[in-house]
Amino acid sequence: HARHSNEFICAYRQGWDEDHLRRLQLFADFKQALLSDEICLFFQPKVDPLSRENLGAEALIRWIHPEFGFVNPEEFIAVIESAGQIHLLTRWVLRTAVHQVSQLQALGTDLTMSVNLSALDLLEDDFPEYIQRLLRESQLPASSFCLEITESAIMQEAERSLKNLERLHAMGLLISIDDYGTGYSSLSQMKSLPVSELKIDKSFVLELETNQEDRQIVRSTIELGHTLGLKVTAEGVETAGARDWLINHGCDILQGYFYSKPLPAHDFSRWVQDYLH
Ligand code: C2E
Ligand code: CA
Ligand code: CA
Ligand code: CA
Repeated sequence: HARHSNEFICAYRQGWDEDHLRRLQLFADFKQALLSDEICLFFQPKVDPLSRENLGAEALIRWIHPEFGFVNPEEFIAVIESAGQIHLLTRWVLRTAVHQVSQLQALGTDLTMSVNLSALDLLEDDFPEYIQRLLRESQLPASSFCLEITESAIMQEAERSLKNLERLHAMGLLISIDDYGTGYSSLSQMKSLPVSELKIDKSFVLELETNQEDRQIVRSTIELGHTLGLKVTAEGVETAGARDWLINHGCDILQGYFYSKPLPAHDFSRWVQDYLH
């Protein structure tokens, strides 16, 4: 299989620019990479700043490519999406995340694991069944998992996406609106979504301490979230100043380098043990 793709790439090498070749190469290599340890999941804590309870983590994919080195996830996810193969990646991420939660449970640690979905995942009719099966096999409760999805992803084919989202929500999974504030969903749309968390994009959080506008936006987003009965999470919390401001304004969950960068599985387990004990 891989050889085929490589010959394909060589045959066309002349005509295409470097960027295009890079994308082709990433696509040709990714299935193999999923099976090797080139691709792995990192985990970043989502912390309740007022309590040691309600601990969560976000699973973030990493690929160290033998030729290109570190490849930005947004770059290769876009490649895999446009090749119509994102379900393979998402399912690998889900299986790996389930495995991590099981391992932590064996150490006596409960947490909520968040996984990022692509817009296309919600268009697959059997996506909820796939998750159902994973949960059954692992014997983990649905409420141990949160699915992060952007507002624009839901709105792309709203009717079909919403049907699946409703089913996942009814199964007991938590649903988070990711990158909140960067899309354009109206309040009436927000009101009808089966979600449990609003996640404020880091672009509004990184300069919170110096930017008056960002503070206004974050303040009103926290209010909106609470009005709708949702938990509000801020990502990109890098400083004690940002943390304090967010706590003072009632933000429920914080995530960012101030607490921890995304960590490989083993380091993450250690971080959790230190944090809880
Ligand atoms: P995202 O879902 O908005 O993830 C948050 C990004 O912010 C992550 O970048 C994370 O490493 C970064 N981050 C966290 N805390 C801080 C901080 O304090 N400061 C700064 N500057 N950055 C922080 P990352 O890991 O590069 O992921 C980028 C995007 O790639 C994600 O954005 C998500 O859209 C996508 N992605 C990552 N893993 C997956 C995956 O497994 N599946 C899918 N579909 N998308 C994924
Ligand atoms: Ca996310
Ligand atoms: Ca974001
Ligand atoms: Ca994003």
